[in-house]
Amino acid sequence: MQRTAIYPGTFDPITNGHLDIIRRAVKIFDSVVVAIADNKGKDPLFGIDERVAMVQEAVKDIPHVEVEAFHTLIIEYCQKKKALALIRGLRAVSDFEYEFQMALMNRKLDPEVESVFLMPKEKYSYLSSSLIKEIAAFGGDVACLVPEGVHHRLKRKFAEKKERK
Ligand code: ADP
Repeated sequence: MQRTAIYPGTFDPITNGHLDIIRRAVKIFDSVVVAIADNKGKDPLFGIDERVAMVQEAVKDIPHVEVEAFHTLIIEYCQKKKALALIRGLRAVSDFEYEFQMALMNRKLDPEVESVFLMPKEKYSYLSSSLIKEIAAFGGDVACLVPEGVHHRLKRKFAEKKERK
């Protein structure tokens, strides 16, 4: 039986912290699906197709990783993909409360799907997509914190925004 795990998130945009988690997850599971949520409520900077494209580009050299957008409850998506587990990243204690609540709720919805928490390298533990966007919006250098393609797209996105003003 294929042991598949789903790594869900908004990935607005994918960072080196997310990539660190993906690399750890493929060591444990036969395949990992990076599942990108539309999450319109979060008013993402990048559209869903752009986010999928950025993740696809970033993981192209990592074997056994699939990238897909999803529009349902994450647990329904796990069932559709016959996944055993949900992967989430834990950076600091501040992530814990929300993740704990989500994991227990998901267990209630489907007790067969396990939530697995992985910790990134220490140097990524302060990294978040929101922080990246804040720095990039002010023209700060985020080149060593995100994949190259994301760096270019962030520059383009904020240049377009500036032009429109
Ligand atoms: P969500 O909107 O679901 O929180 P994110 O894209 O922000 O989506 O994050 C997806 C998952 O990746 C979450 O479990 C989050 O804690 C984790 N994550 C985000 N940034 C990092 C990082 N720098 N290191 C490790 N895990 C991270």
